Amino acid sequence: MSEYQFSEKYRDQLLRCSSCGFCRASCPVFNLTQRPALNARGKMLVLQEVFEGNLPLDEELHETLFQCTTCANCSTHCPSGVEVPTIIKEARRDLAQAGACHPTFIGMDQVLDKYSNIYGEDEPEDFERERNQEAENVFFIGCVGQYRDEEPTEATLDLLDHLEVDFTLIDEVCCSGVLEDVGLSLKEPLAQTNIERILATGAKRLITACPYCMRTFQNHPAYAPLKEAGVEVVHISQFLKDQDFGVTTDLKVTYHDPCDLGRHCGIYEEPRETIKKVAPNLLELAANREAANCCGAGGGVRGAFAANSIAMARRRLEEVEASGADILLTECNSCVHNLGNAKLRSQKFQIFTTPQFIHALVEGDLD
Ligand code: SF4
Ligand code: SF4
Repeated sequence: MSEYQFSEKYRDQLLRCSSCGFCRASCPVFNLTQRPALNARGKMLVLQEVFEGNLPLDEELHETLFQCTTCANCSTHCPSGVEVPTIIKEARRDLAQAGACHPTFIGMDQVLDKYSNIYGEDEPEDFERERNQEAENVFFIGCVGQYRDEEPTEATLDLLDHLEVDFTLIDEVCCSGVLEDVGLSLKEPLAQTNIERILATGAKRLITACPYCMRTFQNHPAYAPLKEAGVEVVHISQFLKDQDFGVTTDLKVTYHDPCDLGRHCGIYEEPRETIKKVAPNLLELAANREAANCCGAGGGVRGAFAANSIAMARRRLEEVEASGADILLTECNSCVHNLGNAKLRSQKFQIFTTPQFIHALVEGDLD
């Protein structure tokens, strides 16, 4: 590979890192592996070496650059304001442009050229509902809820019906924002398909189940036509905050802040307000809100380093066990999926999305 010309665009950010090591304690990858090269400080040092021309930016750096969930726990607590996930994503992009993208994500990119979802599935679950109807709201499920974790999705749809919300599903395709995290680019044709189908419903609100889909719809320029058409984009946790459910429980409930909803969007209190309506005795995990530990699924880590991803989830579940909660709630299907896969038989608490939990209470399936 030819010598890498380090981009000026994040040079200043990178050089801001003083190697203070303040970020070590908050990095889920470092806490798991205990490898200094894999925490934010180590990654910044490696990239500084690349910047100085002492290291090539090539496949040898895959492990350093892709063992990051982009959880932003480091940057949230960095005294020098180093935007670590942004730098990591930029370095991944330069790696891809130099022809050295991680093979897992080359595969994902190819799948999204051919299929409408990251799993390469032909047929989505239909959830026994009409799609593409005129309605006030579109509910956008996302790939995980559509193709892998259907139970929370079914329960959320039933809850919206119970609340008499005027909504429709669409023949949705992957928002493809995840490609931006791994050094590749969102697929414009997929974005155009979603935009056309959302606008055709006449809806003025787009409710997403997935925090990452919400971030993509709100922030990526390809989705600007939604904003221009006056479509408000909200996460289901924000929408449910203003609803009345008519049920409460004494069960001990705790809450895992998804990184994409919490640190990346600043949404901490709305999910808690919703939960407290039905479970007033909400317990907090030892690390919560800005300090919440990542479930290990983000930033492509689940795809490229599955064993470490599960091991990070196990560490988060140890906090749940220590809290004494009966129920763990979260607001992201990816978190539910990863935490659910990591849960040990000996761990007796149950894991739900918040809408799934509320629906179970409404149905009398929990006491
Ligand atoms: S990223 Fe921030 S907290 Fe971590 S070593 Fe660099 S300056 Fe310190
Ligand atoms: S974004 Fe998260 S996983 Fe990546 S270096 Fe920072 S703390 Fe570690």
